[in-house]
Amino acid sequence: MRGTDATGIGGLACLSQRDHAAAAICSIGGPLDQAIFGQAVDHDFRCCGIHGDLAAKVILGERPALVQAGERCELCRCQLRNAGAENRQMALVRFPHQVSDLAVQAIGGCVHHLLTLVSMIDSIARWRHYFIRIRTNLKAPAQVDYFRPNSLAEALMFAERGGMRIAAGCTDLFPATQQQRLPGPILDITGIQTLRGVSHDAGNYTIGAATTWTDIVRANLPPAFDALKQAALEVGAVQIQNSGTVAGNLCNASPAADGVPPLLVLDAFVELQSNRGVRSLPLGDFLTGVRQTALQPGEIVTAVTVPETAGGRSKFLKLGARKHLVISIVMAAVRLDVVDGRVREAAVSVGSCSPVAARLPAVEAALANAEMDDALAGLVQDADVSVALTPIADIRGDADYRYDAAAELVRRAVRDLVDERVAA
Ligand SMILES: Cc1cc2nc3c(=O)[nH]c(=O)nc-3n(C[C@H](O)[C@H](O)[C@H](O)COP(=O)(O)OP(=O)(O)OC[C@H]3O[C@@H](n4cnc5c(N)ncnc54)[C@H](O)[C@@H]3O)c2cc1C
Repeated sequence: MRGTDATGIGGLACLSQRDHAAAAICSIGGPLDQAIFGQAVDHDFRCCGIHGDLAAKVILGERPALVQAGERCELCRCQLRNAGAENRQMALVRFPHQVSDLAVQAIGGCVHHLLTLVSMIDSIARWRHYFIRIRTNLKAPAQVDYFRPNSLAEALMFAERGGMRIAAGCTDLFPATQQQRLPGPILDITGIQTLRGVSHDAGNYTIGAATTWTDIVRANLPPAFDALKQAALEVGAVQIQNSGTVAGNLCNASPAADGVPPLLVLDAFVELQSNRGVRSLPLGDFLTGVRQTALQPGEIVTAVTVPETAGGRSKFLKLGARKHLVISIVMAAVRLDVVDGRVREAAVSVGSCSPVAARLPAVEAALANAEMDDALAGLVQDADVSVALTPIADIRGDADYRYDAAAELVRRAVRDLVDERVAA
């Protein structure tokens, strides 16, 4: 699907034909005068359809037919609703060119399937000019408990109605409920393939919101991401790493979220998208407190981005009551960018010692411009660490223990990075 604009989802309707004549588009909602037609649209234009509904049906080469009440989507068998409602708006456009049978398969499908199909077709560049872009306010059905779209546009459409719960790996969501199934409505983003994986372009590394910890471990990333990879290997067990996502870890906003310190030292941003547009927040601004984020109603976290200017090597260390499957008592991430044997830039962060993991500016200042040698870790002063932290006392450790452990972990991380450099 194409992107969104200020007026709503920029839906792309697809065209299909038989006998070189008929092509059909299928969409719901906004008035047809909002439709923007591509260059190929030069033939008959008629409309009918169903407003505010997911049900639509096109019969190629004939007048578009409306779905009847109670009819089912021929693809997923979902119940089509509100068939025959007033204010019908659907377009039939005739095209002179043969397009493809792909769209023919959309006949009788619900809009979910139609939009999926459109996004498939959209990837075939030579068909682009057959597409019609429609500004429309697609509306999700009123009573869906679980929705797993294949495109971001559909997800945003669903998110816009509010009151739903976004689900990714569900490794935080499920433990948080006492019930056998998650209370809905649920918007499951794991079917959106464009949200999964790590890419690098335009000066940024982009971690899609459906990217799992295992994806991170397997990704080809520069040494600055080593701390993130090390954290990934310490998030639960392999089963959790296979399902749990980086974005889910951030959105859950636990003070003990292992993903936060490594991303803080990478100067990461969180990308948020809604039908109103896209915004990008520094991770430190996205996390506003214990289990609190800057996510607004209707917004989905679509990616975590890291500027490629975040260079050097990094290290993550975690202290728990045991080695694996444990909530961090303290964790630390350190990134050192070294040029000519000196620390050009130091980034240091500690988690589980404040409502939101914190950067340690005083420690970073002490390390900056210092020589990358055995004396470096000694520059990490307890007071410089403590000043940035406000640890609580709980069953895992008291505040003084956390202060001490935080300073020690930072020193060890610095020492490890020095040793790695010597070994390299
Ligand atoms: C046995 C076990 C061990 C664990 N060990 C660790 C550990 O060692 N360290 C650690 O940090 N965590 C740990 N966790 C917690 C969890 O696995 C991680 O936080 C994981 O990264 C969460 O990702 P998820 O995709 O499963 O999130 P989900 O459970 O799907 O979602 C978590 C929260 O984020 C929201 N959300 C998810 N994606 C988005 C999005 N794209 N946009 C907006 N909101 C979104 C959800 O609505 C929900 O509120 C553990 C969990 C379990 C069950």
